[in-house]
Amino acid sequence: MSTPIRLQYLELKQRFPETILFFRLGDFYETFDEDAKLVARELQITLTSKPMGKDLRVPLAGVPYHSIDGHVAKLVARGHRVAICEQMADPAEVKGLVPREVVRVVTAGTVTSEASLDAGAPNYLAAFVVRKNEPAAALADITTGDVRLVKGREAALELLRSAPSELLVEDNDGLPPGLTANLVTRPAMSDFAAETELSRQFGEHAIEALVDGPAEAAALAQVLAYLRETYPASLGALQRVRALGAAGVLAIDQRTLRNLDVLPEPGRQSLLGVLDTSRTAMGTRLLRQWLTHPLRDRDELEARYDAVGWSMVHPIEREQCQAVLRGMSDIGRLTGKVGARSANPRDLTGLRAGLRLTLDLGAQLGRTETPVMLGKAVATLAGAAEPLLALDASLDDDPPASFDEGGVIRTGLSPEIDSLRALTRDARGFLLGLERLERERTGIRSLKVGHNKVFGYYIEVSTSNAGAVPAHYQRRQTLVGAERYVTEELKEHESRLVGARDRLVELEKLAFAQLVETLAGSLAGLQSVAEAVALIDVALALGESASERGYVRPVVGAPRLRVAGGRHPVVEAALGPGRFVPNDCVLDDECQVLLLTGPNMSGKSTFLRQVALIALMAQAGSFVPAAEAELPLFDRIFTRIGAQDDLAAGQSTFMVEMVETAQILHQATPESLVILDEVGRGTSTFDGMAIARSVVEFLHNRKEVAARTLFATHYHELTSLADVLPRLRNAHVAVREQGSEVVFEHRIVPGPSDRSYGIHVARLAGLPGAVVSRAEHLLTEFEAGRPGQATVGGTNGHSQLQPSLFGGPSAVDEALMALDLDGMTPIEAIQKLYELRALAKTSQPGARP
Ligand code: ADP
Ligand code: MG
Repeated sequence: MSTPIRLQYLELKQRFPETILFFRLGDFYETFDEDAKLVARELQITLTSKPMGKDLRVPLAGVPYHSIDGHVAKLVARGHRVAICEQMADPAEVKGLVPREVVRVVTAGTVTSEASLDAGAPNYLAAFVVRKNEPAAALADITTGDVRLVKGREAALELLRSAPSELLVEDNDGLPPGLTANLVTRPAMSDFAAETELSRQFGEHAIEALVDGPAEAAALAQVLAYLRETYPASLGALQRVRALGAAGVLAIDQRTLRNLDVLPEPGRQSLLGVLDTSRTAMGTRLLRQWLTHPLRDRDELEARYDAVGWSMVHPIEREQCQAVLRGMSDIGRLTGKVGARSANPRDLTGLRAGLRLTLDLGAQLGRTETPVMLGKAVATLAGAAEPLLALDASLDDDPPASFDEGGVIRTGLSPEIDSLRALTRDARGFLLGLERLERERTGIRSLKVGHNKVFGYYIEVSTSNAGAVPAHYQRRQTLVGAERYVTEELKEHESRLVGARDRLVELEKLAFAQLVETLAGSLAGLQSVAEAVALIDVALALGESASERGYVRPVVGAPRLRVAGGRHPVVEAALGPGRFVPNDCVLDDECQVLLLTGPNMSGKSTFLRQVALIALMAQAGSFVPAAEAELPLFDRIFTRIGAQDDLAAGQSTFMVEMVETAQILHQATPESLVILDEVGRGTSTFDGMAIARSVVEFLHNRKEVAARTLFATHYHELTSLADVLPRLRNAHVAVREQGSEVVFEHRIVPGPSDRSYGIHVARLAGLPGAVVSRAEHLLTEFEAGRPGQATVGGTNGHSQLQPSLFGGPSAVDEALMALDLDGMTPIEAIQKLYELRALAKTSQPGARP
């Protein structure tokens, strides 16, 4: 036989499968059974047991109610779902079983406690659905109320670059590989159900304006439905929905962001880290947004450059504004709490202080002439005035953190609150005044009136005087050396005091809720204010880093890429001023593909990444680390970093290489920038070289994928491609000899690298002279055996690897391009590779058995 509480628990528990249930019991949140074992293990807390019926003891692990946030944060971070069950009535006022409900399920995408959140990053809950072959994604950050919608090809890309912490799917169709979110499978939603969900949240007529097509509707509806189940109050924070237009954004995926070290990762420096001198978390989040969503809209970019440029040449104004920003609270997240009706007095105090500073910021910036973008932001800041008035009218100047003692609401707002407050003050005053009175009445000079939580007000008399106590004193507690008493008079006043105080707290809570409601009424306005602050913060920060680090305003929308004196922003920052060697880069009609060769550690990867980073920074609206920069507006940036530099866990590295290379070849356009670093390294030399070569040829020869390409390779043989591919140029990293050492100057110069470099190093290393000269001799022989270097023939060991270069693709090319690499298992891929090699052997002139 189980106790009623046990039955209540089991009933709730079975409604939340695969979820840890924290069950409120007095001052603790308890977990039972398997949950308890799990929680004890994960949180390192004691596992005990509790009798819950005749002959029934169940495992139990609990945490005190006030420390729940941190524990939940830990569990959610490890991928668990946590349901919070509260007591829905005061146990003191209920006869029998206290009613209990699960008020919230906390998951990776719905956490809101500071313990779980990174102040400088958004936390997205996302849904991805496909309708009639069209994919769509919805992303919601309930901490700020930010909602985004995107469909088509961009949907998957958006998931990759925004990295949601939790992703709702109906099935796994069309999901992009390489996604790291917690996946939650949800029942498919009908069009009708989706529409109902949307009108419930946004009103009947909002739908047409908000969503574009059934896929977007379903994606957004999935998010809303999930929130309704897990954290219904959070729906209040979601007001506006933004459509992410695909045309305006440069596509960049998570892997490229990682390859380029755009965002911070443990133990690595990042572009965000270098650029981010913003003073608020709102600024950091917006800068992250800019860096992960670079633009293609030239006007918008010019507007950003204007703002950044202004900040650069107005250091004094910048510092004044930043001084204001530094003290500003996170208006964005506090506004989110207002929307979810979860703001407490401390939150609103913070919001008020932030809004007040917002007006200061507006006044500060409004004093000078600023570029359009800043001017608009300043105008938006004025939206803080009205909510500020509401806050000032209702909230006390310095309210306590909790409601317990009253004093949250400003005197003068409500006559009833004021008189109750006077009453409690009087009653308290009376009780304290009673001390003097009772001393006189009893003649006991050491008599004291005191108060504690358990007994309330009491009269304390030392034991030696206990005999002199009047008869109407009722003894309550005996201490060492003292007795405590109450009297009817004392009890009466106390109950008046307690009654007044309870009513006061109740009324204050009500007035506070009204204030939150009023603020929620201008939620969109508050969100705009937060965004304007973030924008000003970011523009100032980018101007600050640009002037500190010597960045220049790029010219965008140019037909070619020309960077003079370019630097890698992150490596430069790590090396310190003046230590980084700048390099030029030109990609234009003459040079579509730049093939970079050079020894290990000479600076090839750095150069490739720096060009990509300069393009990304320019399209994010930042100035760039260069003396001069002129760039096209790229539609995508692809990076493929060879296997040895990027040991992806799990999959075979060669497979990863090929999958990613396939994606590039499928998706690149003439407007893309492709960075290929040591592609083909993940396999044997000959295979690798063959693949590297055909990839370059493909990008060079196919009009529809003719992306501007930077290719670094240690396959020196590939330099001969310049003879046959008209738009390919060679470059190499200069190497200097200093005494018996080779010095890398990190200087990129035109032309292929010196073939005899290896032999040169061998001599420096002290190999016997005879060996070195024999090697030199052999080298000339090899090279003489390959007239024109790129001609196909059977005179050297590499011949069978030279696919035909003219007259269209060979049989191997055709077969290679026809492969569905994304759909293959590693085993199938290896199998195919053997077939390809066999095909190459038979289809080449000079083929050998
Ligand atoms: P590779 O790809 O040729 O092996 P990397 O690009 O990885 O070489 O560079 C190796 C190291 O050389 C980098 O970690 C960096 O410290 C340094 N380096 C590269 N390029 C430069 C440069 N332009 N100026 C100064 N140091 C550089
Ligand atoms: Mg490298």
